[in-house]
Formats: sequence, structure tokens, C-alpha cells
Amino acid sequence: MNIHEYQAKEVLKGYGVRIQEGIVASTPEEAHEAAVKLNAQTGTSWFVIKAQIHAGGRGKGEIKETGSRGVVLAKKLEDVKEKSAAILGGTLVTIQTTAEGKKVNKVLIAEDVYYPGASEPKEYYMSILLDRATGSNVIMASTEGGMDIEEVAENHPEKIIKEWIDPKIGLQGFQARKVAFKLGLSGTAHKEMVKFIGALYAAYIGTDSSQFEINPVLKTSDDKILAVDAKVNVDDNALYRQPKLAELRDLAEEDPLEVEAGESGLNYVKLDGNVGCMVNGAGLAMATMDMVKLSGGEPANFLDVGGGANATSVEAGFRIILKDPNVKAILINVFGGIVRCDRIANGVVEAYKSIGDIRVPIIVRLQGTNAAEGAKIIDDSGLKVFSAITLKEAAERVKAAL
Ligand code: GDP
Ligand code: MN
Repeated sequence: MNIHEYQAKEVLKGYGVRIQEGIVASTPEEAHEAAVKLNAQTGTSWFVIKAQIHAGGRGKGEIKETGSRGVVLAKKLEDVKEKSAAILGGTLVTIQTTAEGKKVNKVLIAEDVYYPGASEPKEYYMSILLDRATGSNVIMASTEGGMDIEEVAENHPEKIIKEWIDPKIGLQGFQARKVAFKLGLSGTAHKEMVKFIGALYAAYIGTDSSQFEINPVLKTSDDKILAVDAKVNVDDNALYRQPKLAELRDLAEEDPLEVEAGESGLNYVKLDGNVGCMVNGAGLAMATMDMVKLSGGEPANFLDVGGGANATSVEAGFRIILKDPNVKAILINVFGGIVRCDRIANGVVEAYKSIGDIRVPIIVRLQGTNAAEGAKIIDDSGLKVFSAITLKEAAERVKAAL
């Protein structure tokens, strides 16, 4: 689960990570009030207005309706309201969103931390993630912060520092010092970076996250180290023991079909193709998607209705698949092991009748216990549903339907 920058910064702050302070706002008036408050709290007179969406690249992104960038600087308190109005309610398109972009419902009014001083402010990159290959956590850092890190990884892999951390032992002091040293830091900035890394790692572990990305981490002109941006991805499987984090979920940022499927207990992932798939079991679902591709189609989704598929779950799956306008055919591929095929067939027919007005052909492949009885129920239903027993038959049916 992803959370917004303003939420992530609050969470990090709770673990002692220094952040660029800010106050979230939903209207231009609130944005102005936030700036007044922030000025009282931090003394800042320049403000950064940051669109809150679950995607990066906002600084270079553009609001479709107004042409504003997704991150803008206001050098006067009086400008905050108008500049926020050009972002709030608009559609932000960045390299990480689709071409349609994402609606901005909130902005973060943040203090300007790039103020002049004894040294130049300098941007770094830092992330912590799970490295499945080594079964450990890895801190990645770079002096090339603020920019597209994928580009750095591609063209200058030597500029990415990696430090692996054994989760059983935890981050050791020397490891944090090593990273700070490799980033070229000394003196106060080095000490601050070591503290920053320690707090960041504690936050990563404490929140059961699978990925943190802080880009940029800023060294201010007076040698403070702080998080200017924060991308936090919490492991969905840990949400049951992270109730406070679970509350931060923003459904407006998620695919509505995936949210609906989650509520019905279905394992659904929306894809871009034209053949809707409903399958019991994740492995069979993957194989079915391969089969759809081989028959010339593209899967419109991954949908695992689970081992105990019944008329209710089949109907819920149907409804979700049918809401996707790209779907030209639906393939149901169920192995009747625990559930008998005749029961699934009845479930399909019931769901079909209950939904009514289904305009796309449905191919049902039932295999396993009572497969022949199941096929007969489908064939006798008089509905636009076709049965298939072998995978090959099902593939041919799909091909004919496209
Ligand atoms: P992203 O583009 O979605 O990754 O958003 P970021 O939070 O990383 O902000 C984008 C850019 O805005 C940063 O790389 C900075 O260059 C700039 N920025 C952020 N905060 C400040 C600030 O306090 N002052 C100034 N002058 N620029 C800032
Ligand atoms: Mn960023």
C-alpha cells in the first residue's frame, strides 16, 4: 500500500527522521492558512506547494487544465493561495502517471529548505528496500539525488552505493557511517547523515515497509540532513498489525475495480487487454493468461476467485470484469476439485441471469469432478455461454470470439 508524501513525512518524523516541514491543505484558502501557520512555526517566508498524488515526477509534471507544475515555489505568502488554486482540483500528468493523469485533491504547503548559507544545498538519493535475492534489506544511496535514479542506475551504476543489512542483526553503526562516508560527507553533515540513516532504517522496520524512497535527501546550506520527498510502500500483508497505517489508505488513488474486488474477497489485478479471465487458483490463473495470449488475445485482468468458488463469488467476479469497457470476451477456467463443476456451472448460469444484459461471449472451461455434467448445464442454458473441456478447445473459442 502506498501513502501520500505528507502522510509519509509525518510517519518518518515519528521515528526521528528530520523532514522538510509542511501542512496539508484541500482548498486554496486552507493553503493560505497553512502558509501563515508554517511561517509562525518555522519562520519560513518562501513556500513550496506540492501536489499530493501517489506518483513521482511531480516537479516536472504538468497540471493539464492550468499548465502549472506539480511542485511550485511561492516567494511571497500572498502568492500561495493563487498558486495552490492552479494545482488543486486539476489533473496532474507526470512520467509516472498514465497520459490521463491523476486528480489532485490535496497540496502540501512546505517550508523552503533550499535557502542560501555557508554552503550550497545538495541533493542526495536514498532508498531502503527488501532484497529478496539475499534475504536482507538494502540501503541504496547516491550523490546524484533529485533526478531520475533509473537513469543513474543505467548509465552510472558505480554512482549507486549499496549496503546490505541482515534483518536479524539490524543496521550497525559502522554501516551507516560507511554510507555517509561514501556520499562524501564529513563533519556535521556526516554526523547528521548517520543519524538520518539510523532513524530511517528504524522507520522502515517499524512500519513493516517493503520500500522507502527519499529523493531528494537534502543537505541544507547549514548542514542539516532532511527528507524533502518521501515515498513509502507498506507491505499489505502487515496491515493487520499496522492499524494506524492502514487508516492512511486513500481509495481515490487506487483502481476502483481493484477496490471493489478486494471488498468481495477476490484477488483481482486490472490489466490492459481484451479477454476477461476468471479462474480458481493463482497458478491456473497465470497459465490461463498465457493461454489467452497464445490464442491471440490479451488478458484484461488477473482474477483468482479462490478455492471455494461459488455462485456469489462468480457473480462478484463477473460484475467486476464486465465493468471494464475493453473486455470483448470472458474466459472462465475452473478446476473442479473441492467444488464440483456442476455447481460452478449452475453458479455461472445464475450469475448470468442475475446480471442480465451481458453482451460479450463467455467461454467456460470446467475440468475435474463432474466436468461433463457441468458442460451440459452450460450448453443447455440457452445463454450466450460456450463450454469447453480441454484448454485447446477453450483457446479456439476465445480466438473465435475476438
Ligand atoms: P517529485 O518531483 O514528485 O519527485 O517531487 P519532489 O518532492 O522530489 O520535489 C521536486 C523538486 O522540487 C525537488 O527535486 C526540488 O528541486 C524542488 N523542491 C522541493 N522542495 C524545495 C524547496 O524547499 N525549495 C526549492 N527551491 N525547491 C524545492
Ligand atoms: Mn522526488
